[in-house]
Amino acid sequence: MEVLLVDLDDTLVPDQTARDEAMQATLTAFGSSTELSAVWAVVREEWRASGLRSIPALAGVSSWEALWTDLSADLEGEAVQDGHAYQSRVWQRLLPTEDVAVVAEAFRSAREGRVGAFDWVPETLTTWAQAMDLWCATNGSSWLQRRKLRLAGLQDRFSEVLISGELGVEKSDAHFHAQVAARLNQRGRTPIGVAGDSDASDGALASFLGVRYLRVRPGVRPATAWFELP
Ligand SMILES: [Mg+2]
Repeated sequence: MEVLLVDLDDTLVPDQTARDEAMQATLTAFGSSTELSAVWAVVREEWRASGLRSIPALAGVSSWEALWTDLSADLEGEAVQDGHAYQSRVWQRLLPTEDVAVVAEAFRSAREGRVGAFDWVPETLTTWAQAMDLWCATNGSSWLQRRKLRLAGLQDRFSEVLISGELGVEKSDAHFHAQVAARLNQRGRTPIGVAGDSDASDGALASFLGVRYLRVRPGVRPATAWFELP
């Protein structure tokens, strides 16, 4: 059976808009009027300074996702403390007079509340699944991506889920692409296409596999007549 590889963030579920809305809601709840652009600059700066980005389990995890993932589940040993220190430093800088644990929980809750599949997704995945095997290939940590799949009700839609944090390499990296190719080979499957919103990762994976790249715009049902023909 042929396989369509499908991205998760900003393809099936919102990422950047959910991130911004959750942060705005958190800041507003605690009376802060800091601009989001300044907020994300702080988050990025602390993430870069954390030294956590080189840990395989966090390969492909963005600074804003690292803010609400369960780093106790993602990491081991001292890295767990480093992870919590990262999250604490961000909230101390953004909301210095507030209790870090309370603020962190408020953001996590706001962000989780915004995990949900785009309107077009359930019906279209059903249609696609009649013609193809669906695999999810996504950037992020194991805990976070699997949690998002569950929260969005998508956990049973894919026969394989390939996550950068589980493979230990970012999705835009050729080593990730090679592991996808090896898994396909191992399962005796032929790829037919890659659907996603990122040229750098989804487009590159399609190029590597020599299949079509179905570029998705967040929230917009992609035209897929090329593989829905009988
Ligand atoms: Mg994406």
